[in-house]
Amino acid sequence: MTASDLRGAPVLVVGAGIMGAGIAQVAAQAGHSVRLFDTREGAAAQAKTKIAGALDTLVAKGRLDAGEAARAMARIEPIATLEAAAGAQLVVEAIVENLEAKRTLFRTVEPIVADQAVLASNTSSISITAIANGLQRPQRLVGMHFFNPVPLMKLVEVVSGLQTDCDVAQAVFELSRSWGKVPVHAKSTPGFIVNRIARPYYAETLALLQERAAAPQVLDACLKAAGFRMGPCELMDLIGLDTNFAVTNTVYEATFYDKRYVPSLIQRELVDGGLLGRKSGRGFYSYPEGLPPLPVAVYDAPTTAGAVTVHGDGAIADLIERRTHDALAPQGWGPARSRESGWTGLDVDGARLVLTDGRSASTVAATVGVADVAVFDRLLQLPAPNGAALACAMAEQAGEAWRRQATAWLAALGFAPQPLADTPGLVVARTVAMLINEAADAVQQGVCTEAGADTAMKLGVNYPAGPFEWLEHWGAFEVVQLLDHLDAHYRGERYRVSPELRRRVWQPARRA
Ligand code: NAD
Repeated sequence: MTASDLRGAPVLVVGAGIMGAGIAQVAAQAGHSVRLFDTREGAAAQAKTKIAGALDTLVAKGRLDAGEAARAMARIEPIATLEAAAGAQLVVEAIVENLEAKRTLFRTVEPIVADQAVLASNTSSISITAIANGLQRPQRLVGMHFFNPVPLMKLVEVVSGLQTDCDVAQAVFELSRSWGKVPVHAKSTPGFIVNRIARPYYAETLALLQERAAAPQVLDACLKAAGFRMGPCELMDLIGLDTNFAVTNTVYEATFYDKRYVPSLIQRELVDGGLLGRKSGRGFYSYPEGLPPLPVAVYDAPTTAGAVTVHGDGAIADLIERRTHDALAPQGWGPARSRESGWTGLDVDGARLVLTDGRSASTVAATVGVADVAVFDRLLQLPAPNGAALACAMAEQAGEAWRRQATAWLAALGFAPQPLADTPGLVVARTVAMLINEAADAVQQGVCTEAGADTAMKLGVNYPAGPFEWLEHWGAFEVVQLLDHLDAHYRGERYRVSPELRRRVWQPARRA
């Protein structure tokens, strides 16, 4: 089996729903003759009409030549029985997400198509190894996991089960590329790459909501300010709370109830109440209104008796130093700088504004013996845009004057401070650290490569960077320290550090 065996080969797409229609369109546009089959009467023909509409739109926008669109349409043939696809060399299955249904389908289709045909499943969560069980040629079954909408989303996870032939996976990998996609290899494990590594993006926000750390729109604003296209709450509303909850449950069950993936009571309440997000008119937010605006805050002017020091040695400290300079310039002086103090942030007349290291502000205050402590969240994008939402929290011990001054200073440094309850790791830091941790586990367990994880998260869920790119900048020591602090605070399995990540602490070249 080589890649060239599949180029231009006749394709059978089974299941003419959202995904099947998209796959048929992409295959036809890439020059394949495509037979489309669905058990629901008329569904395949309807899908062909839908594809015609999609191609017409592309032609109208000048993105596709009318002749090419007509030729692609001519290649698509709805069929009434599977036997009509006897010559297919590639079968792509996109039927209902049910193991028995998929097994039955492949057992039925296997004797109909050629011995050398590749059997691909678009399952988003079912084990490829399990689907292949009982086939005559299980080595020819592979996962070909597209993302919705198929014509637009570039990523394809090429998933190998225990018995999948390497050449079959490579052929599907090359074929996906020839379809204009960006494939990544994945091992058949719960959630594959994207649906697994993305779990903490939702889970950390749900945990913060459970603790009543902040309102959904505040958490969404902080993560969007860090470069994520959508906040977790608005994204869950878009995906559908029920769908998102089902994926979390699948991963949780499939990992033998690993507490790391434990589903959220908050999410279950919403699902049980039929508050499913956009599709039901209400989830975290009400629609069509969507996110309520953040409250407009008025800050005091930052004040100082004259002793301001920027602490820390990295890019975040550099940014704070530049902005503190700007803030103090009208008074004709600038801050001092201390690079060796072991923390990053600002000291104003002995009160501290500290970059989170995963401890609560109260714990920092108690540890360093300073009552007036506030912590602020990690800046993921540097230089941070002006007015970017930034989570912060005050130590229980802090006096009223510093509580007001801490936000005044953050505002003066160009941020829109978002006060949270005193929660360790705040929003961006804990979420991104957990995404990195999950990716490190996936790599250690052979699910994907580092580059595969980065590509998958950027293309599959539009993350502004990949987990290993973040790690490169942040540094394994700091990420592990933050997770260890969260682990010490919450005590449980959730924040246990990936052995792979801990190992990297000792690789000097990787330190930021
Ligand atoms: P869908 O409900 O839109 O379409 C499924 C189609 O399969 C329906 O038309 C149904 O009539 C047909 N069908 C069911 N059983 C069949 C059978 N035995 N033989 C032939 N046709 C059958 O679902 P979808 O969203 O297109 O999802 C299809 C598959 O793709 C699922 O495995 C799903 O997990 C996966 N997937 C979905 C998405 C997504 O965002 N929707 C993304 C990635 C993967």
